[in-house]
Amino acid sequence: MVVPGLATQAGGALAIFTGAKSRSFTSIAASLNFSRNAIVGAPCDVIYPSTMPTNDGTHEKTLAALGVTSAEQISVLFAGLREQFDAEVSLEAVQLLWKEFRDRWIGRKSGVITQVTNNWLKPAPPGLKPTVGAELNKLKSHVESKLDEIHLKIENAEEEWARDERVDLSLPGVVRPIGSRHLIRQVLQEIEDIFVSIGFSVVEGPEIETPYYNFEALNIPEFHPVRADMDTFYLELPKGAPGPLLLRTHTSPVQIRTMEKRQPPVRVIVPGKVYRRDNPDATHSFMFHQIEGLAVDSDITFCDFTGTIEYFVKQYFGPSVKTRFRPSYFPFTEPSVEFDVSCIFCGGSGSGASGTTCGKCKGSGWIELFGAGMVDPAIYGFVNYDASKVSGFAFGMGMDRLAMLKYGIDDIQVFFQNDVRFLKQFP
Ligand SMILES: [Zn+2]
Repeated sequence: MVVPGLATQAGGALAIFTGAKSRSFTSIAASLNFSRNAIVGAPCDVIYPSTMPTNDGTHEKTLAALGVTSAEQISVLFAGLREQFDAEVSLEAVQLLWKEFRDRWIGRKSGVITQVTNNWLKPAPPGLKPTVGAELNKLKSHVESKLDEIHLKIENAEEEWARDERVDLSLPGVVRPIGSRHLIRQVLQEIEDIFVSIGFSVVEGPEIETPYYNFEALNIPEFHPVRADMDTFYLELPKGAPGPLLLRTHTSPVQIRTMEKRQPPVRVIVPGKVYRRDNPDATHSFMFHQIEGLAVDSDITFCDFTGTIEYFVKQYFGPSVKTRFRPSYFPFTEPSVEFDVSCIFCGGSGSGASGTTCGKCKGSGWIELFGAGMVDPAIYGFVNYDASKVSGFAFGMGMDRLAMLKYGIDDIQVFFQNDVRFLKQFP
């Protein structure tokens, strides 16, 4: 099939392209900057002017190479080029390949005019230079004025097309919904706001870590049993590259990085993605979100710690929740605690609707929230703090878990499935 309106007498410069054999018509059209006029209703198999010129390449050789020695010969050469241009240029022939056609003649890098300047004019012997210059100017202004004329016609044709198609340009465009922030992002913002309001700042760190920052500097030496719980993904590195590198298993490495850079007082929270080699189920994912907190100063006590944590939890879940600490163990805190809140779903009573056992807290009335503790003094040794002068606390929370508890979501996987029906519930 032939594109409507495309003449076939384009100076013999025609080639046949079959869309099905190579690229699709629209992709060819896009890459060649086709006018809308040509694309609308375009068939699969089209004929359009070849991108290859059909000239004899004279402008690619110097006058000496062409054996040109007289002004008459020069005039003949330029006449030939002009004839070639006139044969190729017509609205029908060039509108589909407008930009390419234009570039071929007056493109700054390798257009015919530029090549004539470089190959004929510049190396011309002094006696011939004025003739070449004068002829070149004539050719150039002829080509440019003709191209301007054609360009105007193409623009007019497009406007005409728009009118013919009765496109009402005053109609509003297609309004695409812009979406909303993901629930995890909303919860992060909520948590950040609470901590920022009491003097914490937010820092972030790399997700690809060295074992030193992820383990050793956090008081977890290579053969510590805790490492087995934190089995993670190691990166395959090119031979000879310094390594190993791993995907961080917690946001705690950023505590070390922060303390290396800053002297106390330090009050930061560290949100981010972390990775574990967990099989996905309703409460596990190989990637999830943590938010880590750290406060170190000269006189921070366990009371400051409990007060801060309680303040946060009551702000986040509401003033009616009760809290409790249970002794626990983490390599980087001493003493360590597990922090629980009264069950948000049964109000701490342990029983659900019509006297059944509350499924969320399994009847205990308490929900385990996160681990925390006073920073183990051994940690300060890794960051050159004076353990006799500073003290502090640290905590690490699962952001996904906090979101699930607050919004009653029972499967962590829904956060990562991009199901719009789920996301729409949290606009
Ligand atoms: Zn409950």
